[in-house]
Amino acid sequence: MSIEHHPDDSMLAAFAAGTLDHGQHVAIATHLVSCPQCRAFMHAMEHVGGAVLSRLSPAPMSSNALKQAEARLNETPLPAAIPAAPTVSETEVSALPEFVRRYRFGSWTWIAPSVHVRPIVLPQTSDTCVFLLKSGPGTKMLQHSHTGIEMTCVLTGAFSHDGGHYGPGDFDFGDETVDHQPVVDAGLECICLVAMQGELRLNGLIGRLMQPFVRL
Ligand SMILES: [Zn+2]
Repeated sequence: MSIEHHPDDSMLAAFAAGTLDHGQHVAIATHLVSCPQCRAFMHAMEHVGGAVLSRLSPAPMSSNALKQAEARLNETPLPAAIPAAPTVSETEVSALPEFVRRYRFGSWTWIAPSVHVRPIVLPQTSDTCVFLLKSGPGTKMLQHSHTGIEMTCVLTGAFSHDGGHYGPGDFDFGDETVDHQPVVDAGLECICLVAMQGELRLNGLIGRLMQPFVRL
């Protein structure tokens, strides 16, 4: 697996500090599971951060921030309000990290031609909604923008947009300044884990007509 797109340093630092919204925490952790480069960066940063802080402060920072972050992800899910299938099968989304499989899932829901979403029920309340996004081969996604931050982890398949080509393990970041139209590679279904804040805004005439039907 050749990973070309990573979370930036500030996101990894926020993950290590445990200050990310829980949904975003899940997205960064999903990337870390498949990315040795970012895991190495995390460990180096914890080492340096702990050393610097221990000189600055009489109360040294915990040196096991990554372990604590991982522990948060293993917390037992709370009962959810929406009916959810208990698990995602291994064959359905083979690249889904083990810790995500322990969450509860909603049902696959159609949102556009060849595009389905499956909500992930987080064990903690979050401003970020997390879901699996499944797009058929060659799907041209509707052009869209966001009112908040969107983190996308490619699990299987690949897509392209103005920012480049994104394959398995790659991490894509979007916010209200990004207005993109991903196109899924031909020949293979693309499944991503997405952590999205705010609202998805579909652009163009078809997008505006479909907007009332998009409910995540
Ligand atoms: Zn990475």
